[in-house]
Amino acid sequence: MRCPFCHAPETKVIDSRLANEGDSVRRRRECLTCSERFTTFETAELVMPRIVKSDGSRVPFDDQKLLQGMLKALEKRPVSLETIEQAVNHIKNNLRATGDREVPASRVGEWVMDELKLLDQVAYVRFASVYRSFQDLDEFRKEIEKLEAPQAEQETD
Ligand SMILES: [Zn+2]
Repeated sequence: MRCPFCHAPETKVIDSRLANEGDSVRRRRECLTCSERFTTFETAELVMPRIVKSDGSRVPFDDQKLLQGMLKALEKRPVSLETIEQAVNHIKNNLRATGDREVPASRVGEWVMDELKLLDQVAYVRFASVYRSFQDLDEFRKEIEKLEAPQAEQETD
């Protein structure tokens, strides 16, 4: 974003918060050249960061894909669609509030797990088992042990 005072191309974000109920982001910026500070309002569509996948490729954030993933984890669980959509909105707000142009997919995955942990422990383990399968088997095993038992559908061998 260009500085409105000296028109230098480089400015840095010094504060970033959601405005208008999450529809836009208010940013305080400081010019790296003249040090003047100014405020911008950016609409949510424009500020949604791109997602950096583990192979280094960049993709646009896809909220439908996120919703489908959460629905899958919450299949046959006693959680309403409305509640799941709220969780997706929390994650979108987290993304916008970062103020970053790119966010690693792993960070989004952590946010999904935070939301699922609050909503439903079984869904949380389902998601974590898929999500973490290639990165942290021990941690997954610990999560399973923590939840030990009441669900008959959990089988171990
Ligand atoms: Zn400037």
